[in-house]
Amino acid sequence: MKALVYNGPRDVSVEDVADSRIERATDVLVRVTTTNICGSDLHMYEGRTSMQPGRVLGHESLGEVIEVGSAVDRIKVGDRVCMPFNIGCGFCAHCERGLTGFCLTVNPGTAGGAYGFAGMGPYSGSQAELLRVPYGDFNCLVLPRDSEEKENDYVMLSDIFPTGYHATELAGVQPGESVVIYGAGPVGLMAACSAAIRGASQVMVVDTHKDRLALAEKLGAIPIDDTEGGGTERVLELTGGKGADRGCECVGYQCCNMHRQEVPNLTMNNLVATVKATGRIGVVGVFLPEDPGAQDKLAKRGQLAFDFGQFWLKGQSMGTGQANVKAYNRRLSRLIEHDKIKPSEIVSHELPLAQAPEAYAKFDKREPGWTKVVLKPGK
Ligand code: NAD
Ligand code: ZN
Repeated sequence: MKALVYNGPRDVSVEDVADSRIERATDVLVRVTTTNICGSDLHMYEGRTSMQPGRVLGHESLGEVIEVGSAVDRIKVGDRVCMPFNIGCGFCAHCERGLTGFCLTVNPGTAGGAYGFAGMGPYSGSQAELLRVPYGDFNCLVLPRDSEEKENDYVMLSDIFPTGYHATELAGVQPGESVVIYGAGPVGLMAACSAAIRGASQVMVVDTHKDRLALAEKLGAIPIDDTEGGGTERVLELTGGKGADRGCECVGYQCCNMHRQEVPNLTMNNLVATVKATGRIGVVGVFLPEDPGAQDKLAKRGQLAFDFGQFWLKGQSMGTGQANVKAYNRRLSRLIEHDKIKPSEIVSHELPLAQAPEAYAKFDKREPGWTKVVLKPGK
């Protein structure tokens, strides 16, 4: 099969690799029809993770079931399915509580597994013609009848829509509240939509990319351009000096200042400064236990100079981590089915898999207009 292989920092190529296949009786084999490039892939692409060369990348996917293992009951050949980026077993102490981002079975010795991801188990990525889905009955979301015409909407259920939603869930957004979101990438934009779904009265999105901020505005949020600085002051101004009721971190450890230099503690400390006393912060941007490629000595060890004194004084609280996609994807799919939300509005490029290397390079540079890339293997 054709697949996108990671060769080393900023070096990926589409290669012929061994076909993914059923390996265990509980597996499902999917012919991938859409798979996306994610901001998480960029941490790997840039060589800022322990990703091994030779592995296939990709964790956001939708496709058609072409084979099921002998112990699969529910999923049938021909079903059109969307897979959460994280792989759960469905029966461990975390999965049974809906915490599928922290499955204790699929990546022994740690909590959480995913396709094509550094440190998340051996599972091959979805930027390929075929995907092996472990525990297929649990991990495949069978899609409604309109799944072909809305394919670029439903594929966002694999990650960024539930992840954006998770940011607002971790932050505890309630009707009528104000929310500040750092990052207008795909995750931040989906967090903005999710805050609106939850009834937020005021959704502010901070970034430096004008095209992404324009999208945030189109989606109903207040764009805050931090290119010249002043973003945090603007949030305080818009909230009567108190700060927002809730805050979402949708950038991660490679966050930058206005000069595009990485300052790993910037968004976290900006959140402490711009969320009100007693407010809550949801952090879905990725932070790693070590980052040898960082400039900063603390960051190399996965540590941040965090304004804990302010955080404590303000009585703030925080939730963090991978999104438990399974906890939300079925409900969020109904919002797509009933035309309440259209996540494909953020798609900027639809390309064949063969063009993935070029797309990685452009998305990685955050070139204007490259917001979200969907790839079509087999086209
Ligand atoms: P992205 O890289 O496309 O977007 C990040 C955005 O943050 C960019 O637009 C960038 O300009 C902006 N940014 C950088 N520094 C900033 C700052 N100081 N203030 C405000 N904005 C700043 O990525 P994405 O796909 O939107 O993903 C965002 C983060 O979410 C990544 O870290 C990704 O790995 C993570 N993620 C987490 C989960 C999860 O389950 N927790 C799932 C998917 C993605
Ligand atoms: Zn992703």
